[in-house]
Amino acid sequence: MKYCSHCGEQLNDEAVVCVKCGCSVASPKNKVLEDPNESTLLYAVLGYFVPLAGLILFVLWNETYPRRAKSAGKGALISVIVGAVISVISVIIYVIAITTLMHTR
Ligand SMILES: [Zn+2]
Repeated sequence: MKYCSHCGEQLNDEAVVCVKCGCSVASPKNKVLEDPNESTLLYAVLGYFVPLAGLILFVLWNETYPRRAKSAGKGALISVIVGAVISVISVIIYVIAITTLMHTR
């Protein structure tokens, strides 16, 4: 038997969530709850399209879902890099366009 560290409820040794308060009571070795075979592509895509959400999930899941966290973080990072590259390319195109216009005048 073990006890909930949050409310003191007596729990089964196999319990990962307290039946009374719903808090996680997993022991440190069971801390990683995620399925290692689970595809994390969805989280990467989410992080890519919503970088802020990816960043938040990265921080939130860093301990409990490291694979999902990394995936979401990677998606957000790629999104930021792609965004930066597009910005740079836009500036270059803009400069070229201005230069061309000035020369044709
Ligand atoms: Zn509890």
